[in-house]
Amino acid sequence: MRSITTLDLQYAHRFYGFQGEAQYLHGHTGVLTIEVEDSIEPGVNMVFPCNEIQKTAWEVLKNFDHALILREDDPLLPAVLSVYEKQGIKDGTPQNKMKGPAFRTDLAVAYPECRLVVTKETMTVEGMIKIVYDLLKDKLNIAKITFTSGVNAASAEFSPKNKIDRCPLCGVALDENGVCPKCGYRK
Ligand SMILES: [Zn+2]
Ligand SMILES: [Zn+2]
Repeated sequence: MRSITTLDLQYAHRFYGFQGEAQYLHGHTGVLTIEVEDSIEPGVNMVFPCNEIQKTAWEVLKNFDHALILREDDPLLPAVLSVYEKQGIKDGTPQNKMKGPAFRTDLAVAYPECRLVVTKETMTVEGMIKIVYDLLKDKLNIAKITFTSGVNAASAEFSPKNKIDRCPLCGVALDENGVCPKCGYRK
């Protein structure tokens, strides 16, 4: 069975070199739906608590929220960074609080201090699904990701392979020692 969660991401991007309006900088509220598949944990009668899927995903994905997402070869990148630098906000401000841990994968690099994500490929809805799966595949048993942004939408299905032991009392993943990080239950 599947547990399904949805989260919103507000971001600015453009399709550098694309022949259409999307080559201009613009923004969206993107809606990301993550479907997690597993057996039902009998203690809690659920696959995985949806708010926990959301928490796990958000920890990484908040780097995309209120962020600028640019492809690595986009000339806007050095231009924007130079403005941020002059303004003194490139390396962060006390008001920039909603930061996830910086990450670097083959597909994307996050710079939380200046709310920037640099991607290898154009950040289309398809591109975003590849990035999200790559970031979360080891943490969650992802069976499907759907991403919609304006009139664009894409989805992809995956075969979850992780063996995730869950707490029979609260449903969250047990740590490597078989202990529940939330309620302290021991396997
Ligand atoms: Zn767009
Ligand atoms: Zn627990």
